[in-house]
Amino acid sequence: MIADIIRGIETELGGRAKLVAVTKTKPVALLQEAYDAGCRLFGENKVQEMADKQPQLPADVQWHLIGHLQTNKVKYIASFVALIHSVDSLKLLQEINKQAAKHNRVIDCLLQIYIADEETKFGLSADEAKALLDSPELESLTHVRLVGLMGLATNTDDEQKVRQEFRGLKQLYDSLAAIQRPTVQFRELSMGMSGDYRMAVEEGSTLVRVGSAIFGSR
Ligand SMILES: *Cc1c(COP(=O)(O)O)cnc(C)c1O
Repeated sequence: MIADIIRGIETELGGRAKLVAVTKTKPVALLQEAYDAGCRLFGENKVQEMADKQPQLPADVQWHLIGHLQTNKVKYIASFVALIHSVDSLKLLQEINKQAAKHNRVIDCLLQIYIADEETKFGLSADEAKALLDSPELESLTHVRLVGLMGLATNTDDEQKVRQEFRGLKQLYDSLAAIQRPTVQFRELSMGMSGDYRMAVEEGSTLVRVGSAIFGSR
């Protein structure tokens, strides 16, 4: 069942974007089923849940933290996390760098950009992202790499609105991708979820985060 759905999504993506299976609230048995169907990228939004599940799955799973990350919790995932989608401050990036150094790792990160028309969503404005990418402090952060952007579109049935938000994020991505700094190497644009991943891929997404379309509602 899950295997068929995953195969269907992979076929639709056609190699244009990678699938991050969003497994928050789901039991480890379901993650194993997705793994057996070929999934290797798993997205969780809570640090504790991800840290609990990680040792129970095969070691080649790439764990993606997609939810808001508090500085004091970075230490629980620094030894294994593959990509943090939700960096929204220099302070958080500095802490990720510090914890990554303890494990002799370089942790890949995305800047979360605020693109939705909703007050509850986290993220940086375009100007804040530019300022962060320009900041001299980045030079000293040798244990993190900023590899792109992530955005959450407005939760609405208005497809045109969602498409405009994705398009705006892609434009920002393109304008920032030219930046040449040791800690900045853009190659990923994380946008699209169960309801809008097809559109997100049309607009240039390289990572879609799909939960309920695979595992059912939460
Ligand atoms: C839960 C979540 C998703 C997946 O949402 P679905 O609608 O279940 O596909 C994607 N991105 C983030 C940041 C999430 O928290």
